[in-house]
Parts: sequence; C-alpha cells; structure tokens
Amino acid sequence: MTDEPARSMITRFAPSPTGLLHLGHGYSALRAHDLACATDGRFLLRFEDIDTGRVRAEFYDAIEKDLHWLGIEWAAEPMRQSDRFDAYRDALETLKARGLVYPCFCTRKEIAAEIAASASAPQGPDGPLYPGTCRALSDAEREERLVSEPHAWRIDMAKAVSVAGEPHWRDAGEGEQVATPEIHGDVVLARKDVPTSYHLAVVVDDAAQGITDVVRGMDLFAATHVHRLLQQLLDLPVPRYHHHRLITDGAGKRLAKRDNARSLAALRNAGVSASAICAALRSDPPDISGFEPSD
Ligand code: GLU
Repeated sequence: MTDEPARSMITRFAPSPTGLLHLGHGYSALRAHDLACATDGRFLLRFEDIDTGRVRAEFYDAIEKDLHWLGIEWAAEPMRQSDRFDAYRDALETLKARGLVYPCFCTRKEIAAEIAASASAPQGPDGPLYPGTCRALSDAEREERLVSEPHAWRIDMAKAVSVAGEPHWRDAGEGEQVATPEIHGDVVLARKDVPTSYHLAVVVDDAAQGITDVVRGMDLFAATHVHRLLQQLLDLPVPRYHHHRLITDGAGKRLAKRDNARSLAALRNAGVSASAICAALRSDPPDISGFEPSD
C-alpha cells in the first residue's frame, strides 16, 4: 500500500556506455519505465558518458538495442552528458562564486601516501576520505598553481553543509531521510580531465530533464546525500528517490559489466526471449535463476 498521490512521473535510465547491459540494468530500466507508464508519465534515457577514456562508441547502439528488445521506449532523444560540459561549467561557476569549491592539485599517489601516513584516516561510503590537503592552501599559492598545474575542483564540504540548511529527501522504500553529505568529505565536482564529475552531472541533468522520480540501485543510495546537498546549493528541484534492490546471481554476488554471461545481448544470442526476461525481472522478488550461465 502507498499513500502517494496519483501524479505523472518523469523517470530516467542513465547507463554509462562502457559495457553491455546485464540483467541488473534491465531490472533498473524496467522499474523506471514501468513507473512512468503506470502514472501516464514519461521515461527518458541519458547516457552518462563523461568518462571519455572508458566510453566506447559501440555501446550506445548496443544499449538502445537491448532496451528496445525489452520493449522499452523513451519519450525524447537520449541526452548525452558529453554534450553538456557547458552546463556543468556553469554550475561549477555558481559554486565557485559562492566560495564553496576549491582547486585540488593532488595526484592519486599523493592522496594515497597522505592517507597511508595518517594514523586514523576517516572512511566514507566509497573508501578513505580526501585528507583536505589543498583546502588549506593560501589564496596566493592557489592563484599561482591554477595557472600552470592540472587541477580538479572539490567541494568544501564543511562550508557547503553550513550554508545548505538541512537537506532531506524521501525515498520510496526507506522513507524520509536527512542528508548527511559530510560522510563523503570533500568530493570532486570537476575532474582534472573533464569539467564535471558523476555527482555534479547527475544533479544538473536530472533537473534539466525534469526528472520527478529517480529510480536506481541501492548502490547509489549514499551518493544521494551529496546530490541533495548540490540541489540545495544550486537551487534545483528535488526529485523523489526510489532506490531498488540489486540483482544478484545464485551465489548472492552482484552482477557486473565484466560478467558478460548475463549480458542481455548474450542471453538474446542464446535464444532466450525478451518476454521471459521481462517476466522474471517483473516478478516480486525478481528471479533470474533461470538464466544462470551453464559453464
Ligand atoms: N550512470 C550510473 C550507472 O550506470 C547511474 C547513475 C544514476 O542513476 O544516478 O550506474
């Protein structure tokens, strides 16, 4: 039972074209698609392709082919994040103007060394937190190094949290949540090689696509703390969140892109029907035991 008022939802599926879709992606895409359909809303597709080193051209078509095969249609031309760097730059400029981000010149190696040298490096949901080295630089040193050194941009988390009030969100499964973005530390908002990061791009694009309901796996639940903070700072609308279970194999292990045996393309080539896959993924709980690879 749900107490949600009836309303049209705009949902999206946002894969990265760095590999083939597997059953877990199929599940997420169907959930987002079915929610939009059930509410007479719109389902949209977005390619999260900022990771230019890992993206491969053939995966855009492969992803569209798999989704069509499952009977999933999208209501507009797919958005590509690689076309939207200007929008991310604008958002970053807004945060720079408010003094909420700072340039970070550290290399991965330097960060790892600093963490290794510290007796008690704080841990976040994705590993040890950035130790804050570049937050402490003087304005003069920053100005000088900005001209000549590659740099990322990090959020000054303590400052951002202090100006953002108390962002919260409603998760369809987990209920009302108070955002605690500080658990992530000073995350990167623009990388050295691209003028954004996953966190910044996703909030800018969810707003640009008018997404009312974000449907995605539980693996991204913790990231929502950062997303709510950024929405607050950038004055963006707040979607509702539906973090769903992750599809696991018979051994309870999460499916991964490198696990090609359960890619939708491999199943299709093996003669499995799309209707069998959709039925399995739409059952409650979803049951993919019929699609175990026979190795
Ligand atoms: N691009 C992300 C992924 O492939 C999904 C991001 C999101 O849904 O917010 O895991």
